[in-house]
Amino acid sequence: MTLLDGKTLSNAIQDEIKKETDEFRKQNITAGLAVILVGDDSASQSYVKMKEKACERAGIYSILHKMPSSISEDKILETISMMNQNSNIDGILVQLPLPRHVNQTKIIEAIDSAKDVDGFHPFNVGRLAAGLDGFVPCTPLGVMRLLEHYKIGVKGLNACVVGASNIVGKPMMNLLLNAFATVDICHIYTKNLASHTKQADLLIVGAGKAGLITKEMVKDGAIVIDIGINRLENGKLVGDVDFENVAPKCSFITPVPGGVGPMTIAMLLENTIKAAKNRAR
Ligand code: NAD
Repeated sequence: MTLLDGKTLSNAIQDEIKKETDEFRKQNITAGLAVILVGDDSASQSYVKMKEKACERAGIYSILHKMPSSISEDKILETISMMNQNSNIDGILVQLPLPRHVNQTKIIEAIDSAKDVDGFHPFNVGRLAAGLDGFVPCTPLGVMRLLEHYKIGVKGLNACVVGASNIVGKPMMNLLLNAFATVDICHIYTKNLASHTKQADLLIVGAGKAGLITKEMVKDGAIVIDIGINRLENGKLVGDVDFENVAPKCSFITPVPGGVGPMTIAMLLENTIKAAKNRAR
């Protein structure tokens, strides 16, 4: 069994990005990312902090718009409009989830699709579904990069994706399909989840339920990617896969933490650089 080390790869990618931003600076170009954080959800705050730190390390200018959870939808839209027009900003990221009174779709659709570094705008969602270039959501993009780095070809593999959200499962499905895997996608209403997961050469799980995938649900020699992040009562961070018992059955598996999470950050920086390059052109 080989551990897919996302942390080391993410650091290497960030070092490469730093070299690129140093080159940019010589041409008087600075890549810029605007982050909008609404409310005081502690997980969101820590994700945003990590993203800011990564930007700083990689030489990307970042600006944080922190807003109270009582903020009106109009005020958020106003900030997005300002960032859309700001020529120092290449990427705009609205940290999800948003408070209930805010229409998430409306917010995402307000972001200029050329600055949509999270890849959540329907324009970019459509381009991914059609197999065209655009911005791809960072977490599934990070999974593809991790597989590529370890020379794991997905063409022809039976892949099973557990979780079908717009930000994780669905784009993951499209990326795999575009890379010619045969994809089975499962969600909370899937009957007999194990009958699907057991067929998978490549099992990718992003459901948000600790211990969801047990060793009986995994095929011998499978490649297992655990996107889930769950905080146990004792404070421990775990994925959705029962790592201890599943790992011995796998050919490759990601740890949590240190697998997909750090790749998400690296892909956000890459998407921001891509937006900056598009603008410079
Ligand atoms: P979500 O709640 O929006 O979607 C969860 C999906 O999983 C849904 O499609 C749901 O139907 C499915 N699901 C839930 N319970 C299930 C079950 N028992 N059986 C089968 N399917 C089930 O969540 P999300 O935003 O897609 O995030 C999913 C997980 O991935 C979370 O743990 C989240 O923290 C994690 N995540 C990690 C990263 C990262 O960088 N590693 C990034 C984003 C999300």
